[in-house]
Amino acid sequence: MKLNLNIEKAGNWLPKKSPIVISGPCSVESEEQVLQTASEISKSQNVSILRGGIWKPRTRPNSFEGVGEKGLAWLKQAGNSIGLPVATEVANAEHVEACLKNDIDILWIGARTTVNPFSVQEIADALKGVDIPVFVKNPISPDINLWVGALERLNAVGINKLAAIHRGFASFDKSSYRNAPMWEIPIELKLMCPEIPIFCDPSHIAGDKELIPYVAQKAMDLDMEGLMIESHINPLVAKSDARQQVTPFELTSLLSELTIREKHSESEEFINKLEQLRSVIDDLDEELINKFSSRMAIIQKIGEYKQENNVTILQLERWAQILKNRSFLADKVGLSDQFIKKMLELVHQESIRVQTQVMNK
Ligand code: PEP
Ligand code: MN
Repeated sequence: MKLNLNIEKAGNWLPKKSPIVISGPCSVESEEQVLQTASEISKSQNVSILRGGIWKPRTRPNSFEGVGEKGLAWLKQAGNSIGLPVATEVANAEHVEACLKNDIDILWIGARTTVNPFSVQEIADALKGVDIPVFVKNPISPDINLWVGALERLNAVGINKLAAIHRGFASFDKSSYRNAPMWEIPIELKLMCPEIPIFCDPSHIAGDKELIPYVAQKAMDLDMEGLMIESHINPLVAKSDARQQVTPFELTSLLSELTIREKHSESEEFINKLEQLRSVIDDLDEELINKFSSRMAIIQKIGEYKQENNVTILQLERWAQILKNRSFLADKVGLSDQFIKKMLELVHQESIRVQTQVMNK
């Protein structure tokens, strides 16, 4: 599905940097903290937007919930002191009003707000007729439609300086990440709406500063527009997200270690070689599709046979045996266990669907 958003070209309103870096503390805690962080950040000149959370949507109560409205003036002053636009999170109409009153340059909608269409609509209504850039973080749950819906609601009231921020998704799977990146979701958003700039927030994906460089590099390799990285003058005493914040100095060093690759290459040799390799991929994909089709035809036959003999569709031992044997084969040729298991599960689900159809004919 293609999205029909009326979006202003990124080149007209976003800083002309690659990558565009948004940085600053998770939370604005005091005037000194945000001024000092800003001053350190400005030394390297590679940050284009200063961020700071004023109202903090905490999952559990009794955590630091932000300094509130008075912090907006501190944030704006910090931005002015280094000549950068400032951005903060809004979660309701009151926040929007306060930000507009304090000349905040960019607003963003947080992951806990994007999940709620009522809140998003309230924010959109408060922004009717206002020309301000709005960044929309992905919803906590891996549902692309909530993300898209928020962009549509804002666009419908006339906000056309829109960008998306990928900050990972809550997941039950045990993993090293605080929020599972599920890169396929921002990629799908890009396919639905190629004009929309997408930023990555490696801090909230990683949850730990050690993992940030790896996630940031991956975002760059996927050609994302920029990065939102939390930085704090003294992360050890940060009132929120302490583990994932870096000092401005660490930020400079991790940015300098990123490899920014070219989108395209003009070299004829490169283009020819790429064409050649892509045509091999096309042939292999065709082969894969034909193999899947032959496999499904056999599955159908087995279904008919099971029906004639009144046997259940799901045969657990057979399935366990397939998983074990295919994992072994995959390992021998260097394919990851996770990949082969995911693929087999998909194939198995489809086989069950086909056999259920046969059985109920
Ligand atoms: C944040 O940026 O500090 C924040 C609360 O992010 P998220 O909405 O992605 O959790
Ligand atoms: Mn945070």
